[in-house]
Amino acid sequence: MNYISTRGAGIGERHTFSDILLGGLAKDGGLYLPAEYPRVSADELARWRTLSYADLAFEVLSKFSDDIPAEDLRALTRRTYTAEVYCNVRSSESAAQITPLKPLGVESGAQLSLLELSNGPTLAFKDMAMQLLGNLFEYTLGKTRQTLNILGATSGDTGSAAEYAMRGKKGVRVFMLSPNQKMSAFQTAQMYSLQDPNIFNIAVEGVFDDCQDIVKAVSNDHAFKANYKIGTVNSINWARVVAQVVYYFKGYFAATQSNDERVSFTVPSGNFGNVCAGHIARMMGLPIEKLVVATNENDVLDEFFTSGIYRVRGSAETYHTSSPSMDISKASNFERFVFDLLGRDPKRVLQLFRDVEEKGGFDLAASGDFARVREFGFVSGSSTHADRVEAIRDVYQRYNTMIDTHTADGLKVAREHLQAGIPMIVLETAQPLKFGETIREALAREPERPAAFAGLEALPQRFEVLPADAQQIKEFIAANVRD
Ligand SMILES: *Cc1c(COP(=O)(O)O)cnc(C)c1O
Repeated sequence: MNYISTRGAGIGERHTFSDILLGGLAKDGGLYLPAEYPRVSADELARWRTLSYADLAFEVLSKFSDDIPAEDLRALTRRTYTAEVYCNVRSSESAAQITPLKPLGVESGAQLSLLELSNGPTLAFKDMAMQLLGNLFEYTLGKTRQTLNILGATSGDTGSAAEYAMRGKKGVRVFMLSPNQKMSAFQTAQMYSLQDPNIFNIAVEGVFDDCQDIVKAVSNDHAFKANYKIGTVNSINWARVVAQVVYYFKGYFAATQSNDERVSFTVPSGNFGNVCAGHIARMMGLPIEKLVVATNENDVLDEFFTSGIYRVRGSAETYHTSSPSMDISKASNFERFVFDLLGRDPKRVLQLFRDVEEKGGFDLAASGDFARVREFGFVSGSSTHADRVEAIRDVYQRYNTMIDTHTADGLKVAREHLQAGIPMIVLETAQPLKFGETIREALAREPERPAAFAGLEALPQRFEVLPADAQQIKEFIAANVRD
């Protein structure tokens, strides 16, 4: 399996899965994709139907990572996808399934279900990929006797998944910046209660934007970056995307009796990483009818899929909503889909994303390309705060099921795209516990709390308070990196 950049650099070079695992963008600013998508044969699909999650993950991943010996990869997936790691189920019988499918009911002739992706250690779907990444990093770094220091900024929702994935991993340290005293008590406790010596929580005296600016400043110091082996684990990481392909297969098998059936998926979307994995599953031959992209008020993606216009937003136009993990101004994985939509023409991709940088967007409405989004199964919709409160209330009353705000956006939009006879699977991307305020507003009660989270806020915390100053952050990193 060879990987290429969406912008065409290095055509003719070879990049294996391991080569791109620890990096981010390709050197021309593009994103990596396989030179061609592996196809799944009818025989394979039949055999995969009964596999455990870990063994299904092995089958899917091995099609993308032929440079990792099969026995090593199988050991990695079996170590990652265990009932012990994905233990935060709300119905005790299903932890071994890793991503249980929860049927809600039949609406407009379609079976509506939730695919639970948020039973991992941080109660959000990012654990699905990040836990694998932690094990892949440890494995790859160990083989090449390298170390990596991951630097990131978080407003509370995404940094924790990286920390829980990398805790205790050999060869990896995490330096995570968060705004001091600006996160909820739950978010703060989730991150700062980690006592692992390779996890460094840095509470920056400033706001989230200050944290992000510091990460940029440190990353732009190329000498420091090379010297201290600084890396990131952001959502464009290819291994994260491909790990997410697995649960589309798992969800399909759980929702159908035979491989002749088709299903649709609705995906609460922000950076387009999750639904990009659905697109890849479909390209591999999984019988997916529709991929429904659900956004909140930050509707960059809905605008594209309804009009053909991709227009990134400035910070004044990026809203803070009650589904905050979807509050994005541009969708960082979107370029991967655009590459396929344009028939994999890197010159045109380069031009379009130059237009994004120079003019703030592009318009495919007039070109024949936009008509092809339906051939790829894509449709979309958006949601507001009032919609998600209503969806949370409705699902609770009708199906006795508590959903979080992101899943509620998905459910609202899914209902606009139901087709009789075609099961609709809404990806549950987080548990309600993380978004207690909106749950209380919708239901006048506290969110459900998995047993492992009892008393979390009272645990001792380990963190360092530092000023919003890149130089002092660098000094802190330097003092804590000793090999
Ligand atoms: C990250 C996240 C999303 C958005 O996923 P993308 O891959 O960025 O599209 C949706 N819901 C939750 C809870 C998330 O954490």
